[in-house]
Amino acid sequence: MIGALLLASLVATEPPARTASTGTEAEAIVGEALRGGAFGVVAELTDGVGARPAGSPGAAAAVRWAEGWLRLHGIAVRLQPLEVASWVRGEERAEVVADAGRRPQPLAITALGGSSPTRRGGVMAEVLEVSSLEELRALGPKAKGKIVLLQHDMKVASDYGRFSPLRMNGPAEASRLGAAAALVRSLSTATFRLPHTGATFFPPGVDPIPAGALAVEDAELLHRLLARGPVRVRLALGGRMAYPPVARSANVVAEIRGATAPEEVVLIGAHLDSWDLGTGAVDDAAGVAMVLETMRILSAMPHPPRRTVRGVLFMNEENGLEGGVAYHEASLADGTRHVVALEADAGAGRPVGLSATVGPGGLDLVRRLAAPLARVGAEKVSEGGGGADISPLAWAGVPFVEVEQDTSRYFDWHHSAADTLDKVDPQELARATAAFAWITWALAEAPDTLPRTVPPRREPWWKRPSP
Ligand SMILES: [Zn+2]
Repeated sequence: MIGALLLASLVATEPPARTASTGTEAEAIVGEALRGGAFGVVAELTDGVGARPAGSPGAAAAVRWAEGWLRLHGIAVRLQPLEVASWVRGEERAEVVADAGRRPQPLAITALGGSSPTRRGGVMAEVLEVSSLEELRALGPKAKGKIVLLQHDMKVASDYGRFSPLRMNGPAEASRLGAAAALVRSLSTATFRLPHTGATFFPPGVDPIPAGALAVEDAELLHRLLARGPVRVRLALGGRMAYPPVARSANVVAEIRGATAPEEVVLIGAHLDSWDLGTGAVDDAAGVAMVLETMRILSAMPHPPRRTVRGVLFMNEENGLEGGVAYHEASLADGTRHVVALEADAGAGRPVGLSATVGPGGLDLVRRLAAPLARVGAEKVSEGGGGADISPLAWAGVPFVEVEQDTSRYFDWHHSAADTLDKVDPQELARATAAFAWITWALAEAPDTLPRTVPPRREPWWKRPSP
């Protein structure tokens, strides 16, 4: 009875269109990834190398570590040299200034990447609260000399895209109005009174100002106090460009040469740098492990794939994207033919499906290739998908495929001191790696390449003077 049921369920789950050899290859790749090697890679990079902000000794150690790891596993690797802007953290203190009937209150704060330091002795000014860039601009001359607080109500991971412009562009808008400093409520889905850092961008011609992220609890404290009357905050932030402000660094580029179409490149990427507060386990050591494990598993297959698989560990995704831009410009110069690009930068959560940004008819092809991922619950394919480091390739019409992961807890830890190895579930990461490795192999082996996309008409963002 039990045997018959088991047999029936095996027969029922066998996709009919799959050839024997594809089925065997999928079993081999998914099976090897599920052994869980990716977790050990994350452990080496987080507990071993540690924090690796671009331009730091940690980032340089990460480059050496990745190069060594690939050599150890017999995979061809080269470094692609580039220069990164280097920003360093300093002292960080903030408090609500005592006032009639109110004692001083410390605020949990951390500086944003790219911000400038407060002058000696710090800044003390009245706080003006806004909840959108439009509201900020509408302050006009009233913002001069004030500390602007950018408030929002991020609750779930999908809110990130909506509110991240407040962090990216809010401080520059405040600077244009002559504000003394900018405070941003942390882009976080957890409340353990931890500030979450991240990049802020000052376009050419806009003077950087001191800018920090407040823990969610402290942004809410200021909101409550402001409802009762004027509030002043005292602020000392030491974050500044390093000296010298530009550091030499590199992307790490690994390659498995294609057997019959080596000139066609399937690009898989993740970013090697991290923020400095934690050890960048979910952002993005998990993605680095998915790429490295995929290279290891695919290079050990009995035969190489039809097309070349190139794994790139990009430098400075977090605070400048120089790695992504340098890679794209070099590939334009040497005429690299990318047929598809995948980036792993969504944490270590279990896979829930694939998404694809492809030309007409492409989604159906991805669906056929994804069928064996039913085993890890990732066979559903939707439209979308991309990644920050690979985004310049959109201007070359390169299709993007992404492994969609469970990100429900990703922003609890993202860019904070809590982004450490203990947040990675080895089983979930193994499943995500299995999905990533299989779809990479399938795209490198498929008889047809994906239909290309139409490049955007607008000027590339990295060539525009301001956002
Ligand atoms: Zn990231």
